[in-house]
Order: sequence, then C-alpha cells, then structure tokens
Amino acid sequence: MTSLTKRLEDLRAAFALSAGQLARLSRQFADAMDAGLTGQDSCLKMLPSFLGRPTGMEQGRFIALDFGGTNVRTLLVELHGGGLLTVRQMLAASLKDTTAGYDYTAPTVWAEELFAFLAAQVATVAAAGNADSLGFTFSYPCRQTGANRAILLHWTKEIATAGVEGKDVGELLGTALARRGLGHLAPAAIINDTVGTLLTAAYQDPWTDIGSICGTGHNTCYLEPAPPAAPAPMIINMESGNFDAPPLTPFDAALDAASDKPGQQRLEKMAAGRYLGELVRLAAASLAAASPCFAAPVWQRADTLSGPDVALLVADTSRTLTQIEHWLSSRLGLASALAERAALKEIAALVTARSARLVAATYAGVLLRLDPTGQSRHTIAIDGSLYEKMPGYAALLQAALAELLPAGAGHIRVRLAKNGSGIGAAVAAAMMNEEGYGTSK
Ligand code: BGC
Ligand code: MG
Repeated sequence: MTSLTKRLEDLRAAFALSAGQLARLSRQFADAMDAGLTGQDSCLKMLPSFLGRPTGMEQGRFIALDFGGTNVRTLLVELHGGGLLTVRQMLAASLKDTTAGYDYTAPTVWAEELFAFLAAQVATVAAAGNADSLGFTFSYPCRQTGANRAILLHWTKEIATAGVEGKDVGELLGTALARRGLGHLAPAAIINDTVGTLLTAAYQDPWTDIGSICGTGHNTCYLEPAPPAAPAPMIINMESGNFDAPPLTPFDAALDAASDKPGQQRLEKMAAGRYLGELVRLAAASLAAASPCFAAPVWQRADTLSGPDVALLVADTSRTLTQIEHWLSSRLGLASALAERAALKEIAALVTARSARLVAATYAGVLLRLDPTGQSRHTIAIDGSLYEKMPGYAALLQAALAELLPAGAGHIRVRLAKNGSGIGAAVAAAMMNEEGYGTSK
C-alpha cells in the first residue's frame, strides 16, 4: 500500500493551489476583465446585459422561464416592492428523459422542437394566472444588443441542440409562444442566470454587486460602475467559466480533450458540478497500478460519477467510511479496503477544494478591481447546487476569500440566492416596465 500513499501524495500536489498562486490568479483575472471591457483580446467575454441594479420597488406579476441545463423551470413571481416577493407557481421539467425517450439537448434535435417544448411550459403556467410579461433566463453566452435581444454565441455544458447557435433566442421563444396564441408573452428581458442571481439578491440587498452560479455550470457577473460604452452602471456577464489562467493537471487535459468543446470553458471544467465527478474518476483511475479497486474497468468509463456522488464521498465522515463502502459495492459492484475508500474520499475533497479556491480567486479579482483598498461593503450572491449542497463548499470559498482579501474580508458577505437565477428574470421583466431601462442604443 505504500505506493497508494505515494500516488496520493502526487495527487495532493497536483490539485493544490498555494496562497501565492491564488493571489496571482486573482490579479490575472482582474487584468482579463480590463482587457475584455476595452475590446482587447481576452478569455473573458464581458457581455453587456443592458440592465443596472433594481431599486427593490419594482412591482407586478411575471412569468420567469429559467433554462440553464437539462432542467427547465417556469415560475409565476409576484413582486410586491420593498424587496418583497412571492413565488406563486413553479413548474419543473426535464429536457431529457431517457425512459420516455426524448432529449431536446441532442445535436439531432432542432431549435423549433426545443423552443416548442419551452413554450408549452410557459403555456401551463400562463393558464394558472395572469402575468404582466415574461422574463427569460437563458444561461449560455449571448451577445445582447438590448435587454430583450440575445444571440447565442455558442452552447456550453454539453448542450448541442441544432439551429440555435447564432440565433436570437428571444425571437425563437417569441415565435414558439405566438404559435400558441401567447405572442404577448414574447420575452421582455433575456438574462444570464448569474444576472438573475445578482438581480434577485439586489432586490433585497442594495450592496449586492456580484452574482454567480456554482452549479452544473459556473459563471459570474458583476455591476460595472463605469462601462466603457454606456452612460450608467451596467451588469456585465463575464462568462468567467472561460477563464484560462488556472494551471491544468493531466486530468484536466484529459477531461477537456474528451469534451464537446476542447479548449473552451477551462475554469468551468475545473470548477463546475457538471465536471467534478469526472475529475474524481480520472484521478482515481490514476491509482490503478497501486490498488485492485481502482484497477477495475469501471474507472475507465466516462461519466461514472456525478456531482451528487462527489458530495456523498465528501460527506462520509464515519471511521470505516461505511457509506462509501456501500456506494462502491452497490453502484459500481466493487469491494474496497479502508485505505482505498479513504483515498477516494480524499480525491473528492481535493477536487472540491480546488474548485472553491479557484472560484474565490475570481471573486477576489472582481473585488480588487471594484474596490482596491477594501473599504466598502459588498454582497456576493450565489445560486447553484454545488454551492448549496456540496458539504463544506461554502466554508472553503469563504476561507479562500479571507486569505486573498484580508483587508476587505470583514465587509464581504457571501450568500445563497436560492432560485435567484429564475426569480431574477421576473425582476428584469419588471425593470423593463420602467422608462429608459434596457433599451438598446
Ligand atoms: C454558461 C454561462 C452560465 C453558466 C452557469 C456556463 O456554461 O456559459 O452563461 O452562466 O454556465 O449556468
Ligand atoms: Mg440554472
């Protein structure tokens, strides 16, 4: 077993990020923001949203359609003003049901079918209660020319539906809704899920200036006080999942090579829930020569582990790692020694900690730019299953932020904005009711 110990040490070194490395990454991130904002070559797209910060006084009833992965949610949201809101309905649907035999995210499916499915969700919720207008959360990189015009640049998160890239997704949805007699619900605003998260938190807390998703995918937006081409502060969707400075392990390289879009979304492939299981699998497979358990063929099979599986590995704190033992045998048909289970648990912890530290470095990069001396208050709002459900993730993130920004740490609040990605579409739609908002120039 000495060689298992030795190989584990190599993995520890491969996934570690020192304080110095983190600090360098946050400076590189701030530089990439500047470059992207001023139209220079940058891994950060810095996409304008045409929305600023809500006042908290917005009111009305809105449908929010949230499409950001294989799950779609349609909400009926009532905004009362004074930072108060109620979610009246929430309809969840999956774009992919292998038992029922459909998958709207597959490359063989066309845009019209996908958007007809989305319109059907809206129709169900619209039948349940009148709405002033509709906000659409579409969580992929889009070039916007106004708050209600968004052209998909390219898919991420391994979605591959044909005929959507390069198209205005507001138009696609509007057309599908019109076919059902719901033309009046053509999206008033189209937003990224990070923007939705920021808007939802800012509706209640005016200090919110960063919104982020740590879920299936990863990305962050922030409120830019002085956007180069706009007269007022504007939320910028950074598409930070494409940050390309973090150092890669051989496992990251292997994962990237096997992905739909090699070379793209480097940070996302190291940090997001969609990919953590696969990183754990690849690292575990590297222990094959040192352990009978990890030599089993199942470790060679892509997508053997999901994000929730990683959470299970992290969560087992029993002395004999009984849950992991049970999981290995029931899910993978493998017998295991305690040392092997401990190794697997440690790999899951290493991959998770690296994710949280990388994400914290990017937040620190934004804060360095917004507030170099760490004088004012900031709220970072986060939505997503990784942040919400991975044991220890929030604490790791907070600790890394304190390491990076000792001066400002006391002023920074990090909070969950649950369902913010969807609710924010209602806030955005409400903002569009107000004069001068979100209009393209
Ligand atoms: C997309 C972003 C999105 C993030 C979180 C990424 O893959 O490119 O637009 O915000 O996932 O859903
Ligand atoms: Mg989402």
